[in-house]
Amino acid sequence: MKISDVLKERMGFSFEVFPPKTDVGMEKLCGKDGVLDKLYTLKPDYISCTYGAGGTNVGKNLEVLDKIQKDGVCTPVTHFTCIGNTKEGIKEQLQNYLDHGINHMLALRGDLPFGWTGTGGDLHYATELVKFVRQEFGDKFTIAVAGSPEGHIACRSLEADISFLKQKQDNGADYIMTQLCWDMDQFRYWLDAIRNAGIWLPVDVGIMPILDQAATINMALSRNGCVMPRELCEIISKHWIFPNPFDKEPFDAAVEQKKKDFKEAGIEYTINQIDEYRACGINGIHLYALNKYDDVARIVKESGIVDLI
Ligand code: FAD
Repeated sequence: MKISDVLKERMGFSFEVFPPKTDVGMEKLCGKDGVLDKLYTLKPDYISCTYGAGGTNVGKNLEVLDKIQKDGVCTPVTHFTCIGNTKEGIKEQLQNYLDHGINHMLALRGDLPFGWTGTGGDLHYATELVKFVRQEFGDKFTIAVAGSPEGHIACRSLEADISFLKQKQDNGADYIMTQLCWDMDQFRYWLDAIRNAGIWLPVDVGIMPILDQAATINMALSRNGCVMPRELCEIISKHWIFPNPFDKEPFDAAVEQKKKDFKEAGIEYTINQIDEYRACGINGIHLYALNKYDDVARIVKESGIVDLI
């Protein structure tokens, strides 16, 4: 069944993983009784796998998705970007996914590599990629697209960003996967605004579990400029690792305890956020699993998402 149809019928639930760089990491994720095998036990509708800008990890991305496809427990969804890709290259790669039985994709422009000013490929925006995939492959792919509740970091206005999202729908997208957003007032404003703009696509909300201080700050600020609500900032401040959470050799005597306490508070924060999202009229929860199982499973079970299906 197409994931977009699942999302129209009932609340969906999914995970996102990334292709590990090393063989050890691949074994941990894809090996017998590895993270993927464990994530299946939580019965997600789909698992998506990220795609490195410029196709740097295409081989590993396909290896991960191929396993998910062969295991047959849930739908594999590949992320795909315009970065450095010619139209011919896009056609070849997408045909290769189809040949492997992978027919769901998240069509993205992609994050521009450091120092680049454009995609360096034939297509410049996700809108063009959606149009191209529909032209070349008809309805063979179910296409998800990114939505940015706070506005994409480079957008000239939130209104312009929403109009491009509408264009993705008009060009043939099937559902929306959102960028992380901790600012719930902003999220509710955006959801109303896109519905008023005539965007009726199902909205699958991306949620990053708060597990690690440095990773949380990094995710919010290194690319996306996400607002961090006071409550989240307080959690970070209360458990601050000195001199700072990015330091490889902190001089803080209580590092391990602080990490543990931060994770506890972060998991509680994430579960509360899932409750708030579910009360907003969204269509699915997409958890960035960060290639982990234990903490993610706890969030899934304690938030009750596991009972959705
Ligand atoms: P677009 O929708 O193309 O928008 C990019 C910018 O251009 C925006 O500011 C928009 O307002 C503007 N714009 C859009 N269309 C037009 C137009 N026609 N004319 C003028 N301006 C326009 N990145 C990766 O590299 N790999 C991944 O695997 C990956 N996974 C992701 C998963 C999710 C759920 C999300 C939300 C993002 C992911 N990203 C990933 C990040 C994403 O690639 C970046 O956010 C990227 O900077 C923008 O991609 P986009 O598809 O939103 O771009």
